[in-house]
Amino acid sequence: MTEEFDVIVVGAGPGGSTCASFLAKNKVNVLLLDKAVFPRDKTCGDGISGKSLKVLKELGLKEKIKSVKHGKIFGVTFSSPKGTVVNIPFPEKAGKTGVSSKGEGYAVKRIFYDNFLFQNSKSFGVKTIEGFTVNSLIKDGEKVLGVKGTDSKGNQKEFKSKMVVGADGATSIVSKSLGLNKIDFNHHITALRTYYSGVKDLKGTIEIHFIDSMLPGYFWIFPVEEGIANVGAGIITKDLKKNKVNLQQAMFDAIEKDPLFKERFKDAKMVSPVKGWTLPLGSKRKKISGNGFLLVGDAASLIDPFSGEGIGNAMTSGKIASETILKALKENNFSAEFLKQYEEILWKEIGQEIKTSFMLQRLGRIRFLLNFLIDKAAKKKEIQEVISGMLANEEAKKEFVSPLFYLKLLFT
Ligand SMILES: Cc1cc2nc3c(=O)[nH]c(=O)nc-3n(C[C@H](O)[C@H](O)[C@H](O)COP(=O)(O)OP(=O)(O)OC[C@H]3O[C@@H](n4cnc5c(N)ncnc54)[C@H](O)[C@@H]3O)c2cc1C
Repeated sequence: MTEEFDVIVVGAGPGGSTCASFLAKNKVNVLLLDKAVFPRDKTCGDGISGKSLKVLKELGLKEKIKSVKHGKIFGVTFSSPKGTVVNIPFPEKAGKTGVSSKGEGYAVKRIFYDNFLFQNSKSFGVKTIEGFTVNSLIKDGEKVLGVKGTDSKGNQKEFKSKMVVGADGATSIVSKSLGLNKIDFNHHITALRTYYSGVKDLKGTIEIHFIDSMLPGYFWIFPVEEGIANVGAGIITKDLKKNKVNLQQAMFDAIEKDPLFKERFKDAKMVSPVKGWTLPLGSKRKKISGNGFLLVGDAASLIDPFSGEGIGNAMTSGKIASETILKALKENNFSAEFLKQYEEILWKEIGQEIKTSFMLQRLGRIRFLLNFLIDKAAKKKEIQEVISGMLANEEAKKEFVSPLFYLKLLFT
């Protein structure tokens, strides 16, 4: 007999676990499926932004996350293509994107972070099945009625529900089954990541280095735990293809030859294989709701087009999706027209920020602007403070893309 639920969430990354947790907290009968068995790794930079912490707080998990192994982050280090370095501390009282109230953020290996969210979802009452790969959707015409898949023993199974949430990441089968998986390489990043031990001069900042061979994109070093750093690089896929960039080679060249890094990595050891993955960016909107379904996180293509952060938007979309589903259950209305409100509410919440980040991404292509801005910031404490405030405040971040801002800098 086919088991039935109110809601099935496919994928237990940050988007899926968040959505299922909020639903279960509201007494909804929800099934969370994942093809992996937790704890599982996810290729990522492991940077946890203030936006993620805000959702953790609403789930009642903000204090608890401190018990998970993490790196404490106190600011951002930038370097320019010509090699100028500047450290920007987070402001003491940070806002929406500025991590905690003490000006402190986290980097947490995803093997720990995602497991934390997944295990906690069970304590909220979410029913979970691991090792279950969803292969297709059960549909009646356009209407989504459930999922079909293969369990860990190879048995074919199906589950029915009033609603399906696709939270199954960048290669989402839910999105694909609905014909919503078209990739635009202008709005897509290719990135890779590894872990190193013994990198010198880690300062408790997330390091973002703009290197010529990786523009528009960057090389990063994020300290995730004592003596261990997440090291990686990402670039817009269109540019990677057009300029035939070998990203792994470019990253190793930076580590071995760039004067900024070669001393720091001299005695460092790579402690995990290099893994690549893709980032679908929110700068191109796609349809993310329809008859009986919603998409969240990477399945909905919501990654910040400048920073490459996606965990915060995955969790935010998971939360907003849960609120829309609660309304749909109350009204017993799962039509495309009714569920469209999810898209409207979500874009109202994150649309402006993504627009600003897309403009920043385009400015990041202009080498002399990056050199100019980072040079100025390195010389003037006041400018560091302005940038620190901007990092913490969405409204202020818009200044970055205003010509007036650069004109003012010119005369500072
Ligand atoms: C190299 C790299 C660096 C990044 N750095 C950062 C960073 O520092 N900070 C940040 O905020 N973001 C970063 N991101 C983006 C971030 O990793 C994603 O935005 C985030 O993981 C999205 O969460 P999600 O829940 O939507 O999907 P995911 O985390 O991808 O989770 C999807 C889940 O679905 C499951 N699944 C997939 N297919 C199926 C199926 N058919 N059946 C059942 N289950 C399935 C998977 O096993 C997985 O558990 C980075 C991404 C990359 C690639």
